[in-house]
Amino acid sequence: MIDLHLHTTASDGRSTPEQLVARLIAAGIRTCAITDHDTTAGLARATAAAAGTPLAVMAGIEITAVHAGVDVHMLGYFFDPENAEVAAFLVAQRADRVRRVLEMLERLDSLGVVIDRAPILKQATEAAGRALGRPAIARQLVAHGHVRTIADAFDQYLGFGRPAFVARRGIEPGEVINLIGRAGGLVSFAHPGKLGHDELLPELARRGLAAIEVFHPDHDVEAIARYTDLARDLGVGVSGGSDYHGPGSGRAEALGTVTLPESFFDDLRSRVPS
Ligand code: AMP
Ligand code: ZN
Ligand code: FE
Ligand code: FE
Repeated sequence: MIDLHLHTTASDGRSTPEQLVARLIAAGIRTCAITDHDTTAGLARATAAAAGTPLAVMAGIEITAVHAGVDVHMLGYFFDPENAEVAAFLVAQRADRVRRVLEMLERLDSLGVVIDRAPILKQATEAAGRALGRPAIARQLVAHGHVRTIADAFDQYLGFGRPAFVARRGIEPGEVINLIGRAGGLVSFAHPGKLGHDELLPELARRGLAAIEVFHPDHDVEAIARYTDLARDLGVGVSGGSDYHGPGSGRAEALGTVTLPESFFDDLRSRVPS
């Protein structure tokens, strides 16, 4: 089985790369891509942990692009993770994540919502290359009793348009396609059903988008059918995975249940620019 959407503690996942690899093997996954937000820092440890096991680990990334103030998640595959331009871009992305989290903490302060900053900011510094994100704030909001669950933290404070929300600064989705293409890879549009901006897809397909993420825990049977048809109509491939974030992440556990059928994987690989 194949899973091309996975997070580790290098970003907002709650499983270390080693824990993730053990879970993947136990779930019967044989090919996977580590797709942390704006970092490839989990790849080396995952690759080392999978050595000598039946699991093949591919490089991957989930880059947050911005279109009209809205975050658009773009998945990159088959690129060179050592590519200097990609590496420099990701350093800048992570720096803006810290900037944004600090501004959101200021907002919370002015709303009278006081939380401990140290455990949040520690996440960005304790290991090189770790990407900070809103879930780190959400966990502290829960820990300090301001909200009951991580989902409530997003609904009440951190989600788009909520009182502590601060917009990200980032590049357009089309530029992500070009960047990953220059590093030898291809890009899939992550979980379109979660975003609700399908109108972006035809234009991005014209600009070289290689695939749509069809198989995702937030896509029901109807969404899977709709996006499979859309991918065919636009002449792009199909990707998929569990978007696993680990225990205590407040996310659905779909590891081993939401996977990418092999025929789609073979087609995706055939789309890598040669
Ligand atoms: P950021 O990377 O800072 O934009 O934070 C967005 C991340 O927070 C997403 O990629 C999810 O992993 C997580 N997230 C967003 N909404 C929720 C939610 N309602 N419950 C749990 N996690 C969420
Ligand atoms: Zn995440
Ligand atoms: Fe995402
Ligand atoms: Fe994800």
